[in-house]
Amino acid sequence: MKKLLLLFGLLFYLLSSESVAAGVTINGVRSWTAPERTRLVFDLSEPVKYKVTHAANSSSVKLQIFQSRLKAEIPTFNKHKVIASIATNPLNTNSVEIQFKLRRAVRVKSFQLDPGGRYGYRLVLDLHDKKRTEKAGVAKKQTQKSSRKQTPTAKISKQILVKKQTKAVRQAPPVPPQAIKKVRGRDIVIAIDAGHGGEDSGARGNEGTYEKDVVLEIARNLKKLLDEEGGMRGVLVRKSDYYISLRKRMEIARKHHADFFVSIHADAFPDPSARGSSVYVLSNKGASSEAAFWLAKRENQADLVGGVSLDDKDDVLASVLLDLSQAASRQVSHEVAQMTIRNLSKAGTVHFGEVQKAGFAVLKSPDIPSMLVEVAFISNPMEEKKLRDQAQQENFARAILAGIRRHFHRLPPPDSWLAMRHKPRIRGRQYVIVAGDTLSEIAQRHQVSLARLKDLNQLGQNDIRAGQVLKIPAES
Ligand SMILES: [Zn+2]
Repeated sequence: MKKLLLLFGLLFYLLSSESVAAGVTINGVRSWTAPERTRLVFDLSEPVKYKVTHAANSSSVKLQIFQSRLKAEIPTFNKHKVIASIATNPLNTNSVEIQFKLRRAVRVKSFQLDPGGRYGYRLVLDLHDKKRTEKAGVAKKQTQKSSRKQTPTAKISKQILVKKQTKAVRQAPPVPPQAIKKVRGRDIVIAIDAGHGGEDSGARGNEGTYEKDVVLEIARNLKKLLDEEGGMRGVLVRKSDYYISLRKRMEIARKHHADFFVSIHADAFPDPSARGSSVYVLSNKGASSEAAFWLAKRENQADLVGGVSLDDKDDVLASVLLDLSQAASRQVSHEVAQMTIRNLSKAGTVHFGEVQKAGFAVLKSPDIPSMLVEVAFISNPMEEKKLRDQAQQENFARAILAGIRRHFHRLPPPDSWLAMRHKPRIRGRQYVIVAGDTLSEIAQRHQVSLARLKDLNQLGQNDIRAGQVLKIPAES
């Protein structure tokens, strides 16, 4: 891998050496810290020749940018988890040399970008946290493996759950009988995706408001509201100002076993009078092969540029609306979307009064219903003001919450707390099965025989499902 990167660097060097004139200026340096990656972006007056030196497992990385001058401040990294310090070499007047001292092992990636969005030429240096990316890599492989054969909803997440929960079951001490009567189901998990981030600022309002900032505020509001709700919990896909690859956003949602995925954006249009909210779900037709092709292309591109060069809406729809080829997911998506747009219309104007369907899909992630909300037009001066306003941000979050709440109160997943609190009480002891349980483990934990447990519940095979309520026989 290391050699390959070096080779790649060298190739870049050779390829670009002819076209580069002496005297490139580095006009800006930005950095974005994501959980697994630190990205540095150098704004260039034109493409450069450069070289990255990083010996395997060494605690430093050297970046040489040839025939260039640094006209910008290098960001300082105080108590940064990866970068301990940065030093430039002032002795070399022909080129810029930057030395990074590292706190932990990284994998280095670098590439140059052509002008895109509001940026010109750029050189990107990515320091991937080796430990974290390796861990994520393993998880990803497992997910891919299991998704290959199975299509039914939730099987993928169930498989992951099985692993996790068997472990938990083993460690758990036997449950005292009096505790069993109190059955508490799980929280419904909503993955909240604030669009864009980092280098990809999304749309920009007249007064300089960035979409990435306001949608993050709305996302945080929504998380807070969800956490205050009984039986629900919000998970932020993006926690601060950094870019996450489009596919990664879904992986994060899946890792948290999300029941629903909502992506929050702000719209933009050349005509400043365009206004109001819209809600999108994936079209019934799902991923046609054309769309799949289009998507893969988009997604790779977006990963490379951090989203910046892409047309916002296309990028977003491509990234977020999954291959909801399953009727169940589609229906949930549509229902939540419909209730959300209704609530948004109560809170303000709507752009499209009906749920919009987009004919794009992202590869194969069929297990999480999702919607995309364009809360307002950042390109409309009135709405830009709204988007910046804290009270309004909370209002947008409330409208989205109302849509989600309506649906999940009506049709809660069977193993959720919301479903269980409405269930009639069953006399005697009972146990609600969670993913990963086996009958023999349940019998053992309650100190009853497997045969009696099966008999009482009229179970033939060992097939049990999450959410199913078992009667527990009295101790023998
Ligand atoms: Zn957007």
